[in-house]
Amino acid sequence: MFYLLNLFIQMKILINNSDLNEALKGVTNLGFVPTMGSIHKGHLSLIKKSKKLTKKTIVSIFVNPRQFNNKKDYKNYPKNIKNDIKILKKIKVDYLYIPKIKSVFGKNKKQKIYISRNYRILCAKFRKGHFEGVLQVMDRLTYLIKPNKIFMGEKDYQQLLLVKNFIEKKYSSKIISCKTIREKNNLALSSRNSLLNNQNFIVANKIATNLIKFKKFLKNKKNLENLIRDKNYELEKNFKIKIDYLELRKKRDLKNSKNLSNSKLFIAYYIGDIRLIDNF
Ligand code: AMP
Repeated sequence: MFYLLNLFIQMKILINNSDLNEALKGVTNLGFVPTMGSIHKGHLSLIKKSKKLTKKTIVSIFVNPRQFNNKKDYKNYPKNIKNDIKILKKIKVDYLYIPKIKSVFGKNKKQKIYISRNYRILCAKFRKGHFEGVLQVMDRLTYLIKPNKIFMGEKDYQQLLLVKNFIEKKYSSKIISCKTIREKNNLALSSRNSLLNNQNFIVANKIATNLIKFKKFLKNKKNLENLIRDKNYELEKNFKIKIDYLELRKKRDLKNSKNLSNSKLFIAYYIGDIRLIDNF
């Protein structure tokens, strides 16, 4: 047995694929929560849902180099493995998979992934190659783990849709979407929030509150496009941020939307040099 099995604590930590295969032998009704670590309450809500809907839950922590379009961003991505293990043990996750790059991608040649034209918008437009990297890692992890259900957050809504379309076509695993968990002052929880200084943390909360109110304000208004353009300008000016996009799009297929029905407001912005995304 290669995995580190601690008899007193239930969670099995799996660090390579033979650990993984041995541990998962005969496991049925498996829930999978893929993460890049620095575990927070957003991740925990996915895990809780998995524990409720499946018999066993596996969490992965893997900072996937292929989904970073910027080397510095990859290097600076927050890592907190000791604390993560402590939290995941406490919440009684069954398996924690912490693979090395070669366990995930092995000798596999970089798989060609094609993102259809309609989805080359929002983050796909501003982070070239990002979703190709996300789909490559989700393809490999789903192949290796073979979960019944995969739990993903609406916080990363475009990722959720792209992964759902890709994975459910190729595997029998179902993607289960989970609501965004927020700070009490409205900022969506994210591992990247730990990179914000105090002042920027406060500003990011204000921006989230501002957009929640703005979405309510848009109800029954006309010419939403213009109002959103003005809001973009106002936020950049008042909060000294650089907005990549602020757009209203349909939840189903992310097509441009001119009204609030079945639509979400999507934002990505830089505060200092930290890029945050959210949707309302
Ligand atoms: P990450 O570790 O950032 O790659 O996120 C792993 C999973 O957790 C993804 O499916 C995210 O969408 C989800 N997630 C991240 N932040 C939140 C949040 N605040 N609320 C709900 N889910 C989240």
